[in-house]
Amino acid sequence: MQLQVNYLDWENPVTRSRACMEVAAKHGVPVVVMEPARGGRLAELPEQVAAPLLACRPDLSMASWAYRFCYNLPNVLTVLSGMSTIEQTRQNVAEFRASAPFSPEEERALAEAREMLEKLAAVPCTNCRYCVKDCPQGVAIPEIMSLLNLELMTGNRAFAKGLYSWQAVKPASECIACGACESMCPQSIDIVHQLEVAAEHFE
Ligand code: SF4
Ligand code: SF4
Repeated sequence: MQLQVNYLDWENPVTRSRACMEVAAKHGVPVVVMEPARGGRLAELPEQVAAPLLACRPDLSMASWAYRFCYNLPNVLTVLSGMSTIEQTRQNVAEFRASAPFSPEEERALAEAREMLEKLAAVPCTNCRYCVKDCPQGVAIPEIMSLLNLELMTGNRAFAKGLYSWQAVKPASECIACGACESMCPQSIDIVHQLEVAAEHFE
C-alpha cells in the first residue's frame, strides 16, 4: 500500500497519517511512504521551527528529519523521497543507510518543531464535518480549511494551491454565503470569510 505520511500530518484530522498507518499495520499490509518531506516543504522549514532541530542535530538536514520519521515507523517497506539530481540521490542513500531511531532528545526536538508548525495554523477546524451535511453547494469545507492551515504552516501558497486543485472537489467560489455551515460549526469558525480567503488564495 502506498501512503502519504509525514510527521506534520501525523495527527492531522483530515489527512490522518497515523490512522492510515494503524489500519495498514492491523491488516499486515506493508507501506510504501511517498512524499515524507511533504513535497519539499518539510525540507525548508521556517527559521524558528528549524531552530530546535538544528540545536539538537546541526549535522542533519531538515529533509533528513522527515525521512527518518517515516523510515523508522513499523511496517514501512520503503520511503520514496523526491530526488532530481544524482547528488540528492547519493545524499538520500547515505542518510537512509545511516538512519537510526530517534533518541529521546531527538524526539523532543521534533515534537517542539511540530508544535511550532501546528501553532502557525490559524483555523481551528477539527474535521468533524457537521458543516458539510447542510451545504446546498456541497463545498469541500473541511478540506479547504485544512489547506488554509497548510498555507500558514508552510508559508507556501503555491504548494497549497496545487493540492487545492484536486482536494477541493467543490471549491470555495461555489459558496453562496447562505450561512448554514456556520450555524453547525462547534468551533464557531467564520467559514464564509475563510472561504473567501481560500478563493482569493487558491483559485
Ligand atoms: S455558506 Fe457557503 S459553504 Fe456554508 S453552507 Fe452555505 S453555501 Fe455551503
Ligand atoms: S463544522 Fe467547523 S470544525 Fe467541523 S469540519 Fe466544519 S469547519 Fe471544521
